[in-house]
Amino acid sequence: MLEDLQYLLELQEIDLRIKEQELAQEQFPEQVEKLNKQIADATEALEKVKVTLGQAEEDKKNWEEQVEKAQDGLERSQERLNSIRTNREYDAVHAEIEAQKNIINSAEQRRNNLIAEIERLQATVAEHQTELERITTENTPQIQDLKDKIGAIDSNIAEIMKEREVVIPKLSKHILRQYDLIRSKRKNGRALSIIKPNRTCSICFKVLEPQLFNEIKRGIKVQLCQSCGSIMIWEAPEQQ
Ligand SMILES: [Zn+2]
Repeated sequence: MLEDLQYLLELQEIDLRIKEQELAQEQFPEQVEKLNKQIADATEALEKVKVTLGQAEEDKKNWEEQVEKAQDGLERSQERLNSIRTNREYDAVHAEIEAQKNIINSAEQRRNNLIAEIERLQATVAEHQTELERITTENTPQIQDLKDKIGAIDSNIAEIMKEREVVIPKLSKHILRQYDLIRSKRKNGRALSIIKPNRTCSICFKVLEPQLFNEIKRGIKVQLCQSCGSIMIWEAPEQQ
């Protein structure tokens, strides 16, 4: 019996390592996805600001063209002043000149506002660029590492299974059956409750009767926790 308990401890240690690999198989792809999404989000944020910047540059160009066009008109009107004959003509050309000056003023104002906006957007683009580079530098090696680990999971499990195959034949069949049954019901894969001098079930924390505690310490037969059903094993059965 003592030997069986020792092998059970070995078996649980092996099974927990398999469990760990299975958990990784489940969680690592999600982590890769999360890290990739961070890069994609940063790229998208950068692209958005670049589009806004491009639009502002386009608008600035349009207002500059408006200024140029109004300036040409203004020059032509001013030339016409030299050949004016009547007062009526004079008033009309002056009104034209006023209107063109107004257009130039407001177009220049718009252009100046856009110059300020473009400077602000260029700074934002630079910030987003830096952020994207930071995230990419940080995440890329993590993604590679996770992908390597995902790629190794199957062979890791196969290796650990070999260790399992070595322990299995050493265990009494009915004890193995009991262990597998309890383990199959446990999400965390822990079927054994390791009992320490504090006399408490390590799975459900029920305090054990002194007599039961002594029997577990002696390790003569398989004892199940009355509260949670775990197989109770003294923490160091090989020393019994
Ligand atoms: Zn218990």
